[in-house]
Amino acid sequence: MHATGLVSHERYFWHDPGSGAGFDAVSEYAEPEPHPESPSTKRRLLSLLAVSGLGDSLVPIPPRAATVEELTSFHTPRYVEFVRSLSERGGGPIGDSASIGHGSYEIARLAAGGGICAVDAVVSGRVANAYALVRPPGHHAEPDRGRGYCVFGNAVIAVKHAQRVHGLGRIAVVDWDVHHGNGTETAFLSDPSVLTISVHQDRCFPLDSGFIEVTGEGAAAHTNLNLPLPPGSGHGAYVAAFERVVIPALLRFRPELIVIASGLDANMMDPIGRMLATSETYRIMARLVIGAAEAICRGRIVAMHEGGYSNAYVPFCGLAVIEELSGRRTPAADPYLGEFMAMAGHELLAHQEAVIDRAAELALRTPAGRGV
Ligand SMILES: [Zn+2]
Repeated sequence: MHATGLVSHERYFWHDPGSGAGFDAVSEYAEPEPHPESPSTKRRLLSLLAVSGLGDSLVPIPPRAATVEELTSFHTPRYVEFVRSLSERGGGPIGDSASIGHGSYEIARLAAGGGICAVDAVVSGRVANAYALVRPPGHHAEPDRGRGYCVFGNAVIAVKHAQRVHGLGRIAVVDWDVHHGNGTETAFLSDPSVLTISVHQDRCFPLDSGFIEVTGEGAAAHTNLNLPLPPGSGHGAYVAAFERVVIPALLRFRPELIVIASGLDANMMDPIGRMLATSETYRIMARLVIGAAEAICRGRIVAMHEGGYSNAYVPFCGLAVIEELSGRRTPAADPYLGEFMAMAGHELLAHQEAVIDRAAELALRTPAGRGV
């Protein structure tokens, strides 16, 4: 059996984005309530890892804070300094639908550093793969502003670290968060060495990105794949998306490392997303990516936690992913799964298949790599 690493840190749960109202900021008639990006979904995933017993078999990877130089491999120095000084002064808004509290700068550096440490552990062979249960999330963050609850681009910084420090060439990012991975796309849109794939709910967030027509620029043509699934897509649509689009693109590109932007908000209980994925959907998506990784890059996967806002269900979706990464099943079965899979909505429907077919054609144009 191989080793799977787990990055986590108590500080991750201390990042305080303030109060919210629904999925947006408090306003005149929108009464404050706890922010949807709360620590509890991630903390409860950690708790389920403990009580299921799976946590005992994972190799702890202690995170370190990313340096300013590492942060500025993606972000502008001005933005990094803005977050630092605002955090010191007690926090506030940092861009579009993103805010921080006191000390969030240090915690966000620890989140970005968690991805770096996971890459170090996987690339050095200390573990076969790793799950970084980091917070705040990162895939919406842009070079000069925070966005969508994200502060620093954790996955982007991890990829750049793998290339700069470990000398890796081609890397792929598979983003299964229900929202479009706009920050990751921005970072690598004209970089032919990184294949970015985002499977998301069509125009959920951000509203102005995630379109299937955006495929990469210049020498990076066809190294960006967007699969905007219609709202209401369930197990059948997600499995088809991975079997027909994501996996063929990965097998063509032959990355040396696969980074998963593991948002668990496509699940059918999520308060923000409108998709119908179950823990079994996440299990199959993970299994398919792991199979591809074993075929092309010795199984090297770093999964970075992103969104996911259902207290009840995020833990079971996350457990399914980490069980697959570690190759171990625990007795902690998803208590909702039977009922959820018996509900309507899991069949692949024609309007979903039409988008998947379009993306599958684009996947065939992914530049072919040589492999490790
Ligand atoms: Zn999300």
